[in-house]
Amino acid sequence: MTPKTIPSTEIRPAVDARPDLLGLSREALAETLAPVIDRPFRAKQIYQALHERAVRDVSEITELPRELRERLDERFRVGLPDVASRHLSADGTCKYLFRLRDGATIEAVDIPDRGRRTFCISSQAGCALACAFCVTGYWGAGRNLTAGEIVGQVLAIRADRDLPMEGLNLVFMGMGEPLLNLPNVKAALDILTEWISPHRITVSTVGILPGLAEMARWERRPNLAISLHAPDDESRGRIMPINRTYPLAELMAALKRYPLEKGRKLTFEYILIRGVNDSLRDADRLSRLLSGLRAKVNLIPVNPDPVL
Ligand code: SF4
Repeated sequence: MTPKTIPSTEIRPAVDARPDLLGLSREALAETLAPVIDRPFRAKQIYQALHERAVRDVSEITELPRELRERLDERFRVGLPDVASRHLSADGTCKYLFRLRDGATIEAVDIPDRGRRTFCISSQAGCALACAFCVTGYWGAGRNLTAGEIVGQVLAIRADRDLPMEGLNLVFMGMGEPLLNLPNVKAALDILTEWISPHRITVSTVGILPGLAEMARWERRPNLAISLHAPDDESRGRIMPINRTYPLAELMAALKRYPLEKGRKLTFEYILIRGVNDSLRDADRLSRLLSGLRAKVNLIPVNPDPVL
């Protein structure tokens, strides 16, 4: 069946300079709002409206007095991204192109998954790492997303698809390398893990070693996936330039040190590219490379995008 494209919603002009209320923790929100709100419990009401109801605007928080809504609206915005386009496939998967306040566009996907949903979200608008199999890498560097822009993708999909807070998985496998935007990814995770268990969240990385060392120190860690895609430095370096900075021996040593809770495994993503990394010898080298790690391998068909 031909996939159905749904017309985009209206896009507002990108000139709003008010600070974003998304991306603030409960404590930071209460502190930010303190000079404006009339009573402390208002901060809790506003936080709930932002995250449980995914309101697009302070004016929608009708439990607040009108005069307070107007005061808040003058000073703050709710940074939910605009839906530039959405593409719904026959299997229920919905691909979003979101437009951010400065006009940058990012992708996110809602994937139905045996009674649950998995949202695949972006951490950067663009990516400087130039992996040979990746369209985002082909188009090049952009900018880091703010914590609000990361949280905003989750809220915007939930609101658009009218989905409850429960039953969600999250994967950071959209545009960008999350470990190159770790402070904002961490701030977003601190908010999102209030209602999505870290066990239901996966951060996927090419293996940025300082970022892995930082994540190893977090108290509540999401699952970790490694974009591996080749079993040796020579072939990995050809398709993933980052391998020249962080070669496999150093990456594997870091992963062996990485603290894994009981029952958890590392996931290794491996895109099969004919004639590059898909021989029996590659499979053998892969199994030797990963021996000693609690790991599973996710084999992925290569993206047939014509720009690559
Ligand atoms: S790090 Fe991820 S987003 Fe960046 S080029 Fe590689 S695969 Fe693409």
